[in-house]
Amino acid sequence: MKINSQSMKLLNERLILRTLVEKGSLTRIELSRITGLTPSTIGRIVYDLVKMGFVEEGDQVQTSPLGRKATSLFLTKKFCSSIIFNVGVEQTEVAVGYLDKTTKKLYEFPTENFSKFIGHVNEFLELIEKEQPIDPERTSIVFAFPGIVDTAKAEIVYTPNLNWRNVKLHDLIHYHQPIFADNEANLSILAESAISEDVKKSGNAFFLYMSQGIGGGAMIDHKILRGERFAGAEIGHTVVEARSDVRCHCGNYGCFERFASLLLPVAKYEKNGKKLKGKTLAEKFDSLVKMNNLGVEEARKALEDFLHYLSIGIINIVNTFNPKIIVIGGDSDLIWKSFGKDLYGRISERVMPRTLDGVIFRDSVFAGRTAPIVGGNIMSIEHIIETLESS
Ligand SMILES: [Zn+2]
Repeated sequence: MKINSQSMKLLNERLILRTLVEKGSLTRIELSRITGLTPSTIGRIVYDLVKMGFVEEGDQVQTSPLGRKATSLFLTKKFCSSIIFNVGVEQTEVAVGYLDKTTKKLYEFPTENFSKFIGHVNEFLELIEKEQPIDPERTSIVFAFPGIVDTAKAEIVYTPNLNWRNVKLHDLIHYHQPIFADNEANLSILAESAISEDVKKSGNAFFLYMSQGIGGGAMIDHKILRGERFAGAEIGHTVVEARSDVRCHCGNYGCFERFASLLLPVAKYEKNGKKLKGKTLAEKFDSLVKMNNLGVEEARKALEDFLHYLSIGIINIVNTFNPKIIVIGGDSDLIWKSFGKDLYGRISERVMPRTLDGVIFRDSVFAGRTAPIVGGNIMSIEHIIETLESS
């Protein structure tokens, strides 16, 4: 691009928006210090961004003990940056997001079959258009799916646990806003990279998404690994029992997710007619973990194979991607807190020498199933900034 004054202005507008997205509310002086732009350039660009409706002026804040007061600037919530459908095998959550990275969950519906699902999506879009501040020029629609998604075309390639294949979302949604779709684990690692300092800094991280199946999102040098056909980091379908006759939905045998998804320990515990507290798989798994943590022997037994195979899967992640941070999340944020010491022992016995040096393991900072929602909103915000046209 030839750098003339117009394109320079656009680059500066993007820089200021990105800085506000990353840091939150700032004064003009702080913006100048962080971006290196002169106070007069900041003044002009902020004036335009306020006029365009992206930035608002807030309260006067004291910038130093003796200094004069300055006006804080923040990103507007007058329009939603995104409408997000977080599709799980049992439930789909509907949320909206804003430019300042915050999100708000609005509704939930049972996922059921695909035609009912699309019916619900169009109904909720109609409702949200009426009730929320939607800007047709700026609000994107984002889907998070448990499976392989062609992100370039917003096409579901294959979701093993729902058995949806080759769906072009553009053909089915009655709205003309931009539509994005991605795998739930990819959106989760994107969310961690935007919110968590460790992932933001390192850029080499893996999100292990635990639910009915197991998803993987790999970030390498700050970029999400998608692969040639969008199946990059599908760790749930790597084999952990080579001669197993346990068939997976994907067609293979002995897949990681058939041995270590949250379904396994829950089913094992309930096999003898005992019921776990909770309606959803996530609630049941969490009650099992809490019983284990209280020392209940049956709970411990039900979790033993799960922990063994989970450690095998994590060893494969370490030996394949060698990330700096391994985040465990999805339907539970209790796994590393509860079993970290046990898992680390099993993992360190079998990985190659030195591969764990400095590696951080932790649960996701996002409780419940919010990581893909935040990631979906981050994707929309990036789109708004990338497609910004100068005033
Ligand atoms: Zn499989």
